This record gives sequence, C-alpha cells and structure tokens, in this order.
Amino acid sequence: MSQLLLKSVWLENERRDIRIADGVFKTIAPAGTLTADVPNVYELDCRHMAIVPAFYNTHTHAAMTFIRGLADDVPLKVWLEKHIWPREAKLSADDVYVASKYAILEMIRSGTVFFADMYWHRTQTIRAAEEMGVRASIGVTFADVLKPDTSENVQFLAENVSKYQNRIRLAVAPHAIYTNTARSLKMCAECSEKYRIPLHVHLAETRGEEKGSVDSTEGRSPVEYLDSLGLLSNRTVAAHVVYVSEKDLDILTERGVTVAHNPCSNMKLASGTFNAKPFVDRGIRLSLGTDGASSNNNLDMREEMKFASLLAKMTSGDSTLLSAKETLKIATQNGAEAFGFHAGKIEEGWLADALLLNLKAPCFAVGDVISNWVYAANSSVIDTVICDGNILMQHRVIPFADDIEKEFRERFNESRWRL
Ligand SMILES: [Zn+2]
Repeated sequence: MSQLLLKSVWLENERRDIRIADGVFKTIAPAGTLTADVPNVYELDCRHMAIVPAFYNTHTHAAMTFIRGLADDVPLKVWLEKHIWPREAKLSADDVYVASKYAILEMIRSGTVFFADMYWHRTQTIRAAEEMGVRASIGVTFADVLKPDTSENVQFLAENVSKYQNRIRLAVAPHAIYTNTARSLKMCAECSEKYRIPLHVHLAETRGEEKGSVDSTEGRSPVEYLDSLGLLSNRTVAAHVVYVSEKDLDILTERGVTVAHNPCSNMKLASGTFNAKPFVDRGIRLSLGTDGASSNNNLDMREEMKFASLLAKMTSGDSTLLSAKETLKIATQNGAEAFGFHAGKIEEGWLADALLLNLKAPCFAVGDVISNWVYAANSSVIDTVICDGNILMQHRVIPFADDIEKEFRERFNESRWRL
C-alpha cells in the first residue's frame, strides 16, 4: 500500500499536512511541514479541501437498489408483505451481487465507506464490498418464518467468522421478532456471544410490534422480549427503536445497546416519530442508517444527518439537541465504534477513512464548515473518498463506475419480468 500525503487540508479550523500509511492517519502536522520521504508517495494538493470523517451506515439492505421505487406510498405491512417479500423471493444471487455493487457506488459517491447489511445471498454482498474497497458488516440473516432451516446459517458462521476479521466482518442478523421464533432468536444470541460479533436486529420499528411476534411475548414489549431471550448486549445494534417505554430505555441503557436511527425510512413508511431526547439524555449510543433504498429512497448519509438533526429538534422542542457536530459524530464515530472499528476521527492512529470536501462549493463560502456540511451542503461537494488509506473516489471519479451502472441497468431490464 502506498502512502498518501494530504497537503494543506482544512481540519478543525487549521491548515494541516496529513500523512496516511498502513491504512491509518500516521502524522498530522502544521501545513507545510510534511514532505514525501519515501518512494511511492501520492501527494494531494488540498488547499481548497476540508477533511471530515467518512460515514458509517449502520443499517441498510444494499441490494434493495434493485427494487427501489417499485412500491412507494403504501403502509409498512402492505409494503413488506405484498411488495417487498414476494419480489425479494425472486432475486437471484447474481441480482444481489449486481445490485449491491450499484448500491456501494451510490454510497461512495455520497461519502459512505462502511455499511451494516442484512439481506439474503450474503456471499454476493461480501463479494461486492470486497471488490469495491469499502468496509462492511455483513449480517447472516435469520428469519425462520421465511426460511425455516437455520442450520446453514449456524454452519456458515462457524466456518467463516475467523475468515472475515478486517475490512469485511460478519454479524448475526435476526431480522425481527415477527419473522423469528423464540428458538431462532435465542440461537442468534448464542452465536453473537460465542463468536463475539455484533447482533443486528430490527426492533420496535412500528407500534404494537409485539402483537405480530411469532411466539408470544407474554405481555412483554419488544425490547423486554429480546432482553428475556438474551439478545441485548453491548454487541447489539438495534435498528429503528421508535416505540419504547421508560423501562425499555432503562434496559437499553443497562445493556449498552447501540440504536441505529433511520429517520428517513421511519418518516417515509410513517412507522412513527423517533424522539432522540431520552436516548441522548441517558447516554445511549446512537448511530445512523439509511435503511434500504426502497424505504428511503436513497443511501445518502449526509441527507440522513440533516433529517436526524431536524427531527430531533422538532420532536423535543429543543434546538440545541443533535447539534451539527454531535450529529456528524453519530453518523461516523458512533457507528464505527458500534461495529468495532477504530474510526470516525481524523486523529493520529485512527483508521484512515475520510472525505475531502470541496470548499469552493457555494455552501462553504461563509460560516462553520461542519455546520454547512450537515445543514447546507449536498453530497456533490464530496471531492475525494478515502477508505482504509485507499482512494475510492477522486474528483468525483470512481473507476469502473460506468461498467457497474451499465451492468445494473441491463440486469434490471432482463429481470423485470421476474419482479
Ligand atoms: Zn431495515
């Protein structure tokens, strides 16, 4: 891996030179003080750039790009049962590979270098993420109501957890309480414990979720039910978590659960209003996710940040809640921590995942860079995307992007009859 030298980049109100080597920020020094001291140093003139941490999308279903825009403006239950599940059942492994690559292209363009995925045909998503150079937590999805035989999942974990320990890692992903028996949920908890890997689950997304639980919750809330089965720990990343009681919040706090907030999806499906205040007040770690492209309908984490911040302010009546800086941390560092990556900060020794923003864009003309990044910009201001010390996009160009787009369109047109 060659070294990168970022010259005179804007970092927290100062101009800095940054040396990136071995996938981490090696040296950060005043501008004009670092020079290329070894061969194969790739130097970037960053006089018109600001550096910020890259996004960690902690809840998505990448291959849903294949069914984007096919079922909008319908209730969640109808959306899932009439439109999404029947179509997903027809998706082939190759469809998932092509759609995942297409999704990752969109993620890179909008500044995301990590995604936590939960879907079928996981080996195809792994292949796509490996080829595209991003990081990912690939969920091994359990939903024994839809796929009763869970032994293959258990075997896959046993054979592959140790194989995926770096850029790509595995997680246990029980889909939800309405798609899993208690037995299957318990098995997920055991796998997460045994392999010390994250457990990624949809939780309390809609009102009355417990009524749809496969096995009776015996009057417990979805949070209490999962806790009773041993699924909640500091390895758990629970997506949505819209409907919670005080008791639920106590449990989430005690167990150290991370909550992946998905404001756009919650609003679009009218699942409910996520109120960030009690989570923030209790110190529950929040991260951000886009959810899939058929309930968002894009994978743009910058947009998600703005929605999260504005929604938090509106629901709480507190305009200081989820400030630009805090929201950026939620969308980057918190997500990285939840999945065990030492990333999300531009500091020496941290993983070199970063974005270079074009400060010539009109939204950066005056005011604070981070405020403008969260509230005023759009993802077109991202000039360069760096993941693991490698450049994935420079001057908005991603190698092979045209081929990936062409392949996606061709496959979609070929498979239209199947979907
Ligand atoms: Zn989801």
